[in-house]
Amino acid sequence: MAEQAGGARDAIVIGGGLTGMLAVVALLGHVESVTVVERDRYPEGHTFRKGVPQARHLHLFLTGGQRALDALLPGSCAALIAAGARSLDLPRDILVRTPTGWQRRFDEGRHRSLSLTRPVLDGVVRERALRAAAASPTRVEVLEATEATGLTGDARQVTGVRVRSRNGGPDGRAERTLPAALVVDASGRSSRAPRWYAELGRAAPHEETVDVGLSYATRMYRPRTTDGSPETGVNIPGRPDSPRGAAYLPVENGAWLLTVSGVRGDHPPTDAAEFVAFSATIGDPDIRDLVADAEPLSPVHGFRDTYNRRRNFARPGASPDGFVVLGDAHCTFNPVYGQGMSVAALGALALRETLDKEGGPRPGTAASAQRAVAVVTEPAWLVAVGADRPFARDDDRKPGLGERLTGWYVDRLGARAAIDPVVGAAFRDVLCLTAPMSRLVAPAVVARTVLLPRRPALPAPPRTTEPV
Ligand SMILES: Cc1cc2nc3c(=O)[nH]c(=O)nc-3n(C[C@H](O)[C@H](O)[C@H](O)COP(=O)(O)OP(=O)(O)OC[C@H]3O[C@@H](n4cnc5c(N)ncnc54)[C@H](O)[C@@H]3O)c2cc1C
Repeated sequence: MAEQAGGARDAIVIGGGLTGMLAVVALLGHVESVTVVERDRYPEGHTFRKGVPQARHLHLFLTGGQRALDALLPGSCAALIAAGARSLDLPRDILVRTPTGWQRRFDEGRHRSLSLTRPVLDGVVRERALRAAAASPTRVEVLEATEATGLTGDARQVTGVRVRSRNGGPDGRAERTLPAALVVDASGRSSRAPRWYAELGRAAPHEETVDVGLSYATRMYRPRTTDGSPETGVNIPGRPDSPRGAAYLPVENGAWLLTVSGVRGDHPPTDAAEFVAFSATIGDPDIRDLVADAEPLSPVHGFRDTYNRRRNFARPGASPDGFVVLGDAHCTFNPVYGQGMSVAALGALALRETLDKEGGPRPGTAASAQRAVAVVTEPAWLVAVGADRPFARDDDRKPGLGERLTGWYVDRLGARAAIDPVVGAAFRDVLCLTAPMSRLVAPAVVARTVLLPRRPALPAPPRTTEPV
């Protein structure tokens, strides 16, 4: 472990969700102690908790995130499958309706996404992270029912976190200060880092938001008969010109999650009967049959704040030393692209690699880590914002020539990817966060996208797969 000025080699992680637990793993062996500050109390077993409201909704875990998770905590993806996660090959096992029709079902074997409920994913990762912590020289303590309320230090240096215990605290004091050489903010989309910066006397980080006004409503089902379980998932993304969408995916124990969505104010209802009526308007026969033959296992849950938002903590001089921001606290994405959890894992891995390179936390390490986090976040941001920008609310800017050309190319590429194995493989590599955007301009991809005639995709959901 590296010697830190003043001998302080303690770290604090704010938020004990997915990103927080992976941040703990990244810190193991690099600091003497890690204190996790988590507002919630963890539930018994793998069940829902209030601090992660999006956990009611469908979550797909992409290949790029799986690789990062296994690099941090080897064997975790196998553990998720053992806990009931369904492994779905793309595009074979998830039928996708694109703007030009249904995507062909290539049996390509490149990307196996994991579909499971968030409580199971978070629970398995937490158990494995805490087991890894118990076997490490780093002491890890989790303070449940404890909320971070601010940072200590000044505009140049964060020195700790102010916390408030929801139960009055172990020594009877509700509020106290925990000192640390390194503080990681993993408190998710509700992170108060900008306000905390102001309290330290510095400007809030520059923030970009691109919002298509998407909202979700989700319900869990179980087929009434054993053979009533559909073989595939379905994804029909909504668009401003065709605002309603739907997706359904199998999860653990034979259950299915059905999410319906609407953009720009076409909010899906959370009333059970209206939800069924809304899902019938998507025009997908599989969804209609699924709902008709299935037993609902949950109420309908809604979710509205689905904007893409990136806070630029990595700009030179943007952040005080000793403070790093990961996961949704740093960057959130329109969930239809399924990227947030993967970016969280990639960010935690970037933190560990920075600590490995620098030999533990030193002056300036937080800035290096934040830059590394920004680099691994960029491809997902470009995918989500590239697709959403043309449809975003409050974006009256006239696009320049470059943006119009890119839009033309991406539109053509998306249409081609639905029917072409070469372009489709490149498209999925980028979407699943295993390849940089430059993969989309590889010579073979450009040639097929630009030179081959534009053709519609399939008129109906494909029932058979195609070898490649
Ligand atoms: C509707 C929806 C669907 C999604 N679908 C997908 C998908 O298919 N695939 C995918 O990869 N991603 C998806 N995402 C994104 C994914 O949910 C997030 O990227 C992921 O949860 C980020 O993890 P996190 O740990 O950063 O934040 P969270 O999971 O939100 O955890 C934050 C933690 O911090 C705690 N906390 C908050 N404030 C404080 C505080 N002040 N003090 C102490 N503790 C605090 C909370 O209690 C919580 O435990 C979806 C998101 C939404 C909204």
